[in-house]
Amino acid sequence: MHELLEQAHALLDDVARLRRAIHREPELGLDLPLTQAKVLDALQGLPLEIHRGQRTTSVMADLRGSQSGRTIILRGDMDALPLQEDTDVPFKSTIDGRMHACGHDAHTAMLAGAARLLAQHQQALSGTVRFMFQPGEEGYAGAVVMMDEGLLDAPSGGSPPTAAYALHAAPRWAPGTVLTRPGPVLASTDNFTIVVRGRGGHASAPHMAADPVPVACEIGMALQTLVTRSVNVFSPAVLTIGKIQAGTASNIIPEIATLDGTIRTLAPETRATLVEGVHRVARGVSAAHGLEAEVTNTAGYPVTVNDADFARFVLATGREILGAEHCLEQPSPQLAGEDFAYVLEHIPGAMSSLGTRPFAYAEGEAPNAHSNRYLLNEEALAAGMAMYAGVALAYLKE
Ligand SMILES: [Zn+2]
Ligand SMILES: [Zn+2]
Repeated sequence: MHELLEQAHALLDDVARLRRAIHREPELGLDLPLTQAKVLDALQGLPLEIHRGQRTTSVMADLRGSQSGRTIILRGDMDALPLQEDTDVPFKSTIDGRMHACGHDAHTAMLAGAARLLAQHQQALSGTVRFMFQPGEEGYAGAVVMMDEGLLDAPSGGSPPTAAYALHAAPRWAPGTVLTRPGPVLASTDNFTIVVRGRGGHASAPHMAADPVPVACEIGMALQTLVTRSVNVFSPAVLTIGKIQAGTASNIIPEIATLDGTIRTLAPETRATLVEGVHRVARGVSAAHGLEAEVTNTAGYPVTVNDADFARFVLATGREILGAEHCLEQPSPQLAGEDFAYVLEHIPGAMSSLGTRPFAYAEGEAPNAHSNRYLLNEEALAAGMAMYAGVALAYLKE
């Protein structure tokens, strides 16, 4: 077994205990005082320079090596989800309507474990490891607040970060297996609402009204054509209208019709094409019939794009630590979103998945992330800690 993996195994009991403590008391959004206190407690006694967030309960901790050199960020997210836990683990959530169902409890615990592990290797480090414990990943863009508060600034006596690495638990993949890929790994998400505004009237006399219903239908179809005719077929894109609302009765022409939809893409230019296209098509189709459309967009996270060289470096490091059969190139991206994308817009780095499937489940059968029955295999956390530590050690040795 690789030395780092062995050392990670030695820390596994403590890390699992921390993970369970965080799991018991899940917190949401940007304000996670209980979780922050647990992190600070776990880091106590380590040779770290610690900065707490001002606007959020983030923790940024710098470990300075024995020599000067580059700086790398290792990220763990700390927030839970607003859903009721439906498992019977002994450390089940004690707070109604909240659950760690995305594995962020494990990310936080692994990162604290990696800080302990890397502190044992402080002599071998040329440069600084910056541990980024962030709140608000689940839709609150906590990473952006941390960037505003100096995440990308130079640590004392060091140079600004030039690389970033994050891990995410993946309940469907074999425990302890790490996967990543060069290029896009996760999608952007944009939601939109189109309000088609006409003039109400009697169903028997449509010429005296301005009916928004057929116009809304036409927009719905035209948007599918927008995808197939304006997006490069080799750039994945999905546009779904998930909700249409209009009218109150069969003999009334309503004044408005509303469409709600979502756009998922992997390339920023495809995203821009579709977001702009929704406005154009909605307004254009409405205008063709003498009606008006208002379009509002809610931008989600951008595409998470791994730096190609850094992703290959992670794969090579992982094969060395975990063995080639436990570190694989991920065959395709996934269409979930991640606010680590914002960090990777500024500095090169990579996000990888860590298989955390419980032993009791066959391949592909474990409850997925965000499920009320989500379970996580704690044995896998040793591999995650070893990866965090191994990537930082190799990067600061180069
Ligand atoms: Zn999530
Ligand atoms: Zn997550």
